[in-house]
Parts: sequence; C-alpha cells; structure tokens
Amino acid sequence: MQADFVVVGAGSAGCALAYRLAEAGHSVIVIEYGGSDWGPLIRMPGALSYPMNMARYDWGYHTEPEPHLGGRVMAAPRGKVIGGSSSINGMVYVRGHARDFDTWAQMGAIGWSFADVLPYFRRMEHWHGPEPSSWRGDAGPLHVSRGTRTNPLYHAFVDAGRQAGYEVTEDYNGAKQEGFGAFEQTVHKGRRWSAADAYLKPGMRRFNLRLVQGLAERVIVEDGRAVGVALRSSPRFSVASLKSDTPRLLTEALVSEIRARREVILAASAFNSPKLLMLSGIGPADHLAEHGIPVIADRPGVGANLQDHLEVYFQMRSSQPITLYRYWNLLGKAWVGARWLLTRTGPGATNNFESCGFIRSRAGVEYPDIQFHFLPLAVRYDGKMIAEGHGFQAHVGPMRSPSRGTVRLNGSDAVTAPEIRFNYMSTAEDWTDFRRAIRLTREIFQQEAFREFSAGELLPGANVTSDEALDAYIREHAESAYHPCGTCRMGDASDPGTVVDPDARVIGVEGLRVADSSIFPQITNGNLNAPSIMVGEKVASHILGETLPRDDVKPWIHPEWKTGQR
Ligand SMILES: Cc1cc2nc3c(=O)[nH]c(=O)nc-3n(C[C@H](O)[C@H](O)[C@H](O)COP(=O)(O)OP(=O)(O)OC[C@H]3O[C@@H](n4cnc5c(N)ncnc54)[C@H](O)[C@@H]3O)c2cc1C
Repeated sequence: MQADFVVVGAGSAGCALAYRLAEAGHSVIVIEYGGSDWGPLIRMPGALSYPMNMARYDWGYHTEPEPHLGGRVMAAPRGKVIGGSSSINGMVYVRGHARDFDTWAQMGAIGWSFADVLPYFRRMEHWHGPEPSSWRGDAGPLHVSRGTRTNPLYHAFVDAGRQAGYEVTEDYNGAKQEGFGAFEQTVHKGRRWSAADAYLKPGMRRFNLRLVQGLAERVIVEDGRAVGVALRSSPRFSVASLKSDTPRLLTEALVSEIRARREVILAASAFNSPKLLMLSGIGPADHLAEHGIPVIADRPGVGANLQDHLEVYFQMRSSQPITLYRYWNLLGKAWVGARWLLTRTGPGATNNFESCGFIRSRAGVEYPDIQFHFLPLAVRYDGKMIAEGHGFQAHVGPMRSPSRGTVRLNGSDAVTAPEIRFNYMSTAEDWTDFRRAIRLTREIFQQEAFREFSAGELLPGANVTSDEALDAYIREHAESAYHPCGTCRMGDASDPGTVVDPDARVIGVEGLRVADSSIFPQITNGNLNAPSIMVGEKVASHILGETLPRDDVKPWIHPEWKTGQR
C-alpha cells in the first residue's frame, strides 16, 4: 500500500493537512489508531465531559507523580478517535494572541509571525459572527459560532469584568483579545464540529484521501530518508461495526507497512509524535540507547520543552436556581438529550462556555496572560466532581508558565504509554502568577453584577487568602487544561534543541515532517485546537510550496500596559 504522502494521526492538525494535500491532487493515506466518531456523546456539545473519560476515545495517559503538586498523578487525555482531540475536547475556539506567533518567529520559527499565520486562520474558518470582520474567515471548512447566551449569568460575568475596570472585547479572535466577552465554539447547527467533520470526511468524499485504521509503530527510514510507516492493525473496531457517516471509507490495516512516495508527516499529538520519533531512532541518543533503539538522528530536543496550561475552578454558590445544576439529574439529563436529539437546541447544543475573559496579571505585561472560562455550573471539567446545589464558576490559570517537562519512552514497544512529566509549578514565578490569578478572580466575582446571583464563595473558600493557603489549594486542586505542546519544537536548524525547521522538516532525516501541537515553540494564549489546525493548514502550504501572502495588521495592545494592569 502506498501514497504520495502518509500522515500519521487524524487529529486537529492531521485532518487539515491531509485535506489540503489531497485537494492539491496528491494521493494521501492517513493512519489513525482510533475508531469511529459516530454517536451522541461526541456529537452533542453538552455531553463534552463524557468522551474525554472513555477508554474508547481517549489514550488514557497519565502523568508521572508531579513533584510540585504533592506527587499527584494527573490525567492527560488525548483523543484516540477520528478527529483526534478535536472530537473529545471542550470545543472552545481561541486562535491565540498575535504576540504569541510573533514570539514564535523570534524564537527561530521564521515565517510563523502573526502576519504569516493570520491568512491561514482566515482560510480555515467559517465564522458565524454577528458582523463580518476583515480579521475573520467566512468561507473555510471549520464552522465557528457563539452560544445563545440566554443565561443571565453569562452577561453578569462580562459586566463584572467591566465593573472591575477591564476592557470589553467584541471579538477576542479579532484585533483585540484583551477583555471580557462572548466565547466562541466549534459547534455547527447544534453539533460538535471537529477537524474530521471540517476536513477529513469531505476530503475523503472529494479527493484521493484514504483513512487506514492501525497503530503506527515507527517511521521506516532507509538511507537517511523516511520512506514509510510500520503499523499494527487495530483489532478493536472492525469495518463492519463502524457506524460512521463514512463507513465505507475506513479500511482496517491489513498491511504491516505503508510506503510514501514523497513524504511521511507525523501529526500524532504532543505525546505521540515525539514518542514515534524516538521509536524510529530520532531523539536524545542516550535515552534511545537505554531502550536499545539504534540512533538515526541524535536530537536532544525530541520530547523536551513540554508545556501546558494549568487551571483551578473558582466556584461560587448561586442564590438563584438558574444554573445548569437543574439538569444535573437523570430526568434533567434525559430532557436535555431528548431536546437535542429532536431539535438540536437547548443546553445540549452548546458547550455551555459562552462567556470568557483575557486579562493581564500586572502592569508591565504587554498582552493577556490569564484566561477565564465562565460556566453557569460548579463542576470539574471532566464532570467527575460537582458542588451540591446551584453554583457557577470560572476556570482560571496563567497562560505562560515558565515550567517545562518531558515526554520519554517507557519501553521500545509502540503500545506502551509514554512517560509524561509536566513538572508543573516548578518555578517561583508560577506560584506568584497563580496566586495573583486567583486573587484577581475573587475580585471579579465580588463586583456589583454578581450581587443578585451570588451566595458566597465555594472554592477556594473565603478564608483561603494567605499565600500559604492559596499555595495549598493550588497544590491540591490545580488541573491540566489539556493543552500539552512543544515536544518537537520548531526553530532555527542550527539550534541543537530544535526538532523541526520552519518548514516543519525533521532535522537529520529526509522526507519526514511533524505537523501538530508538538511543534509549537511556545504555548499560545488560549486553547490549542485552533492553532493546531492552523499548523496543519500551514505545513501543507509549505509542502506544496505555495504559502499565502503575509498580512501585516496590528493587534490591539492596551495603551497603558507598561504602567497599568487594567
Ligand atoms: C479533554 C480535552 C479538552 C480540550 N478542550 C479544548 C477546547 O475546548 N478548545 C481547544 O481549543 N482545545 C482543547 N483541547 C486541546 C486541543 O483539542 C488539542 O490541543 C488539539 O486537538 C491537538 O491537536 P493535535 O493535532 O496536536 O493532536 P490530536 O488532535 O490529539 O491528534 C492526534 C491523532 O493522532 C492519533 N495517533 C496518535 N498516535 C498514533 C499512532 N501511533 N498511530 C495511529 N494514530 C495515532 C490519535 O489517535 C489522534 O487522532 C482539549 C483537549 C482535550 C484532550
């Protein structure tokens, strides 16, 4: 079996990349270990906490004990299904701040400044916003919408931000990220709109794009050139049992290798792309030697530079029975599900993250470094713990932690989970930033706008005010926002820590690229689905040799950022 291009991973970036290559007339095979994305738990946005906990859809990875968080072992979910993590994520849509990408370019990823990436964000989007905007795209495959914001708490959150002295933003994905406003979601006509919906399925219908189900075990390298991928078939889902809307297009791998006439591209996520490189002999030589893997390219940066966003849930008790808690029982859930099935409307038709905020933590910070997700329910993201009674919350956390971790092999067998160490909260700066984020959140919930809705603080709790008490709370309760990235860092080819050059080519091996969240030089300011898809779109252009023209627009920066926090 062979194709011009072999892509490993039908996730956020892989789907976009495969579509663009196939659209240009090339034959493309995508290898995906996960199975069908059919079924209401993935399709219904309001059910988002289910797929991320299901072994069928999640790789089930965990961190090593995190030394600075009391040795906690934390869940590190990653999508294992068509659409990858975009099929199990929270559907929040954030491009990131323009300065994030300018920083990428300064770090050696030449050609990835905001002026370079904006045309790709535009090309991928079909934004259903209230007003057309030159910053946004309206003809791309990825539908982006806003919720109906019928719950008054959504407006209270934005009003509280304004009352606390912050900006209001009409479109945080446009010129002005900083401020409070309406959140956007990858939801279309009441259904999750994953990268598979946007790119993979239409691409398979229209072009020479095939999907093969199997576990990629390693890249086959001959004479310094990647020529294919060795794989193992995945016995769990047979073609016949798949209820995908494109079942005939999914072929189970009956072969042990797939050859690439032109290139192999890894898009297997920030955990599995470095793992696959290492299994293929590309990585830190001493670590490969520990596992008896012959070294093809000694790249110490593979698996290094792991980054994430860490957050806490700041929860308030509600004085009015208007939160989503009213549906948090068997009858309520049945009603939400039935309404969604029949009409694609109601609380099931949204991820319920409909208001947000991006603020700067202190004077001297040029652009936002704290993000808020507001939710009219007091619950953990993964749905595992809910406060008794009506409540609401903001997920809050710093956006640019200096902590760095690693992804390493646990063995030389491809089925063994990698060893993941985030090393969260390993610097003093992390602690000051996190305390500040919590104190600023408390101040927002104390504003007039919440007076009629608030019956006091649930978590961290009104008595958790000292540095020591806040630190203890963070140590015990901080959770991943599920944004791992950076483990195959893109940068200047002469830098030994770089894994891929600015064309996403793996340094030291011909015919091999990486295109997913692992190549981010630095984490972006917000959730990572949009920038991961952008990476897939843009790397395809680099491969095809036809990058889009730059667009040098200026983002809004607070005029008094040097001297004021708001
Ligand atoms: C629970 C959760 C909630 C999130 N919430 C949000 C959110 O609300 N908004 C947002 O913007 N971001 C969110 N994210 C993050 C975002 O979805 C990811 O950062 C993004 O999807 C990563 O894209 P990717 O292309 O790097 O990898 P993925 O989308 O994870 O794709 C990798 C693909 O490769 C496949 N694969 C891996 N290894 C192999 C192998 N050896 N053989 C074959 N196939 C393989 C995987 O099965 C997967 O399909 C969330 C993530 C999670 C897990």
